[in-house]
Amino acid sequence: MRLATFLYHNTPSLGIVRDNGIVPVPGLSMLDVIAAGETALADLSKIERSPVPLVPEHLLAPIPEPRRNIMCLGLNYVEHAKESAQARGREAKIPTHPLFFTKATNTVNGPYASILFDAAVSTQIDWEAELGVVIGQRGKNIPQTEAMSYVFGYTIVNDVSARDLQFNHGQFFKGKSLDGACPMGPWIVTADEIPDPHALAIRCRVNGVTKQEANTGMMIFKIPAIIEMLSRGMTLEAGDVIATGTPSGVGFARTPPEFLQPGDVVECEIEEIGVIRNRVG
Ligand code: MG
Repeated sequence: MRLATFLYHNTPSLGIVRDNGIVPVPGLSMLDVIAAGETALADLSKIERSPVPLVPEHLLAPIPEPRRNIMCLGLNYVEHAKESAQARGREAKIPTHPLFFTKATNTVNGPYASILFDAAVSTQIDWEAELGVVIGQRGKNIPQTEAMSYVFGYTIVNDVSARDLQFNHGQFFKGKSLDGACPMGPWIVTADEIPDPHALAIRCRVNGVTKQEANTGMMIFKIPAIIEMLSRGMTLEAGDVIATGTPSGVGFARTPPEFLQPGDVVECEIEEIGVIRNRVG
């Protein structure tokens, strides 16, 4: 099932995406559905109302107000770890443990909304297409063998990054947490529809030019390992979103470096999920 949050009569509403339309389910939020789990999904699948037209601009982030920060991995693709090191004149080290950081909840942005640009804040806004994993139930010390049963579904995340802030402040949080710096969506595809999340083409285009092109199978730490390590001694909650890292082809590591400018259009696309498209400025 494809579950979205969208503006229906100007009010955020859950919707089931079907046949190029969307069936509104007012009065229920995505977090409600995730918390209720299988029962809620079974109930939703029985709804037979006709869809209304899907207006892309009416789609919001699938979880518009997450309870906790977006949890992220850095350097989870070998080629991206290499290009990052090279761009910074460092020796490439492939991580032996996942590099975790978070993006604040103020970053959450719609799949077709604008990416804010303020040259007084940052002039090095960069793109990072990523597979987002939505956690479906609370868990701690989750073993890899059980980890996939904790996944509610998948979405697309653009981990928009202000490189000047990211590097100047010596820690990822600030450079990753500008308002609107986490476009997500266009919906959540439930886990049952993607039996192998490590076999999906992942791409990013800027103004129609392909900048990133890889496959989620190239992740260094796969989803079961990520969930095992992240949940060790740290409770994961239903509705948590984990951005699993970006492949190579980001702007700051290119020669010469490239950054987003007002008017640019960034598209992040993942096979079997869809595409998010955000204009800068
Ligand atoms: Mg990232």
